[in-house]
Amino acid sequence: MLTSFIEVSKESDFPIQNLPYGAYRTESGDIHLCSAIGEYIIDLFVLDEVEFFGGPNLKGKGVFLDSSLNYFMSLGRPAWKEARETLQKLLEKSNPRLKDDEQLRQKVLKEQDSVEMVMPVQIGDFTDFYSSEQHARNVGAMFRDPENALLPNWKHLPVGYHGRASSVVISGTKVHRPKGQILPEGADAPVFEESKLVDFELEVGFLTGPGNELGQPIDVDKAEEHIFGLVLVNDWSARDIQKWEYQPLGPFLAKNWATSISPWIVTLDALEPFRTEAPAQNPKPLSYLDQKNRTTFDIELEVFIKTEKLSTPYEICRTNYKHLYWTMAQQLAHHTITGCNIKPGDLYGSGTISGSEEGSYGSMLELSWKGTKKLKLPSGEVRSFLEDGDEIIMKAFSKNDELRIGFGEVRGKMIY
Ligand code: CA
Repeated sequence: MLTSFIEVSKESDFPIQNLPYGAYRTESGDIHLCSAIGEYIIDLFVLDEVEFFGGPNLKGKGVFLDSSLNYFMSLGRPAWKEARETLQKLLEKSNPRLKDDEQLRQKVLKEQDSVEMVMPVQIGDFTDFYSSEQHARNVGAMFRDPENALLPNWKHLPVGYHGRASSVVISGTKVHRPKGQILPEGADAPVFEESKLVDFELEVGFLTGPGNELGQPIDVDKAEEHIFGLVLVNDWSARDIQKWEYQPLGPFLAKNWATSISPWIVTLDALEPFRTEAPAQNPKPLSYLDQKNRTTFDIELEVFIKTEKLSTPYEICRTNYKHLYWTMAQQLAHHTITGCNIKPGDLYGSGTISGSEEGSYGSMLELSWKGTKKLKLPSGEVRSFLEDGDEIIMKAFSKNDELRIGFGEVRGKMIY
């Protein structure tokens, strides 16, 4: 098993097998692209400046001299694999190049705790799906009919909508409680006031690489070639605004005010050891969605709440990415079947991920069952939805006996 000269604890999210991508602000205020190992970030700008990336796909391109990953993402899997292998070789235990060059090491490796991470991608478009069957069933049961919780289209296509990219923010950004039109219980006209039903949504998103030409759909069996990597997503939602506005065109202002993502993009190559079969589909989808090897990834997901009275974050949800009914490849094939073009750096959310039992639901809406079951916290506080000052922290990792590939976390605090 590959090991690095940099010591990495067994519990770390970032062994030499992970090497996620991000960006940070340097001491002089510039934005540098970076990767991570153990407790450190790896400054990719510095490595590119000394022409370290000399393979056939990256040589002379200066992809890490940019302040966003979009150009690198546009180059596709051969370039991604080359960068990964180049970095792994540099960090490998027996390689003296960085290990024994004290001066270079000081410029390249910085403690993660000492740097501010920033948005690593210019996100052009954000699309959000609705691909967790349990979540769709829960919402359908709550708002419509428990006997017919899924709408007739749900098992035939990955339901989704076009979201808002400008308000996608990096972990740590404080989010403001939105105001909007709300129809009070029993009233026949709306009022304008602050949302009282602010919620989180536990999601995993993927960011795209090369993409397609307008008019040329992406084949479902080739769709993964366009997927650069995954991030954790908290798709903040205002349920009371949503309830009044959503018919007939779907969510609008209820979801356009903030979407938080984790700072590290974990590549599909890093997640490869955790590939697993996707849930069986019945009925069989139409041929353009009929993926040959339907696989997904085994990724554990956790959500914690930290209120002002809680001394430590308290776990309120634990579930797994692998339960999603529609795969990323099916989502992307469906998205482009009309000829819609996707671009490097677009973000695609999975939709809220819920497991089959209580404690595995990925939103307050479901955890509190529309506010009917209050969540009791160890501080004595209760919650149906989020209050000002509440912070939501999401974590994700894949793990087996030898290896842990983690996402770090996405956190965001609700303020007024
Ligand atoms: Ca969502």
